[in-house]
Amino acid sequence: MQPVYSFVIPFMNEEEVLPALIERMRELLGQLDGAAEVIFVDDGSKDLSASVIARAIDENPTFKLIRLSRNFGHQIAVTAGLDHAKGEAVIIMDADLQDPPEIALDLIAAWKNGAEIVHAQRKQRVGETWFKKLSSHVFYRVLRRLSAIDIPRNVGDFRLIDAKVLRAFQDMPERDRFLRGMFSWVGFKQEIVQFDRPERYAGKTKYPLHKMVQLAVDGLVGFSDVPLRMALWLGSLVSIGAIGYGIYIAVWAIFTDRLVEGWASTIVVLSLLSGINLLISGIIGLYVGRIHNEAKQRPLYFISEQVTASLPKTKTKHASVKG
Ligand code: UDP
Ligand code: MG
Repeated sequence: MQPVYSFVIPFMNEEEVLPALIERMRELLGQLDGAAEVIFVDDGSKDLSASVIARAIDENPTFKLIRLSRNFGHQIAVTAGLDHAKGEAVIIMDADLQDPPEIALDLIAAWKNGAEIVHAQRKQRVGETWFKKLSSHVFYRVLRRLSAIDIPRNVGDFRLIDAKVLRAFQDMPERDRFLRGMFSWVGFKQEIVQFDRPERYAGKTKYPLHKMVQLAVDGLVGFSDVPLRMALWLGSLVSIGAIGYGIYIAVWAIFTDRLVEGWASTIVVLSLLSGINLLISGIIGLYVGRIHNEAKQRPLYFISEQVTASLPKTKTKHASVKG
């Protein structure tokens, strides 16, 4: 049967959380007014997560499991799930119960009222370090300044999208993905529903600092070319400074007899210039790296196995993918 609702839940090494999640999802499905499917995406788990889901599928035929061939990262895992979603409304949520499944009812209510994208916005951030709060605040301010997209504050990847939005999303084939930016960029009727975000149910975060930084860079580089143009401004500024300094030295040389001076200032200027040079090359490198990534035209992910209730396990070699 064609589902009305699709849930997309990516996970990596969440065996401690999944039994509770399965229970909460079953309760939620009982409260829905239409058929649903729950697509679990195993993003290269090394623990027993996948078999926990596979067992749950026997009792819950609306559950499905897609196993990626390795860890591709959360954003790609969500994309893989979205590619398989058949519902009229698709809800993306984390596996660790930080996105409480019951909130989906509120998202659905907003969708029925005509919204085509419903972002779940956390009211406050419980159990997050001041560093994470501060860095995300700064990041979104910068991103808003530098790009055309306006991501609502305190919104992560917990959201509902209409099938129409999903089709638009699937026409965006970029490899380095920043989903919340993409969903903000596509337009459509967007709405916000607030919720209290609890702490992670069990286990540890799978988003350590370096992955957060990577995501932030993907967001900035993917949605703004201001950093790239910074070279022009910085270059002009430094050149003007250099000319001014040259004039100053010339005047100094003409009107005094102390010529050889300023060793320290030479070193300062030199190191400043090479620093700026390296910085700019690094920024250009980020964009070139992205171009390189796109040029390779590789698929976004590979699926190693799909488990559904009706069919026996199908092993698919390199069953892919959109690119
Ligand atoms: N996740 C994933 N692949 C990864 C990292 C995380 O599928 O490489 C999943 C993870 O299992 C969870 C969701 O993405 O369901 C959000 O991750 P997490 O809760 O660790 O991030 P946080 O809430 O700490 O930002
Ligand atoms: Mg979490």
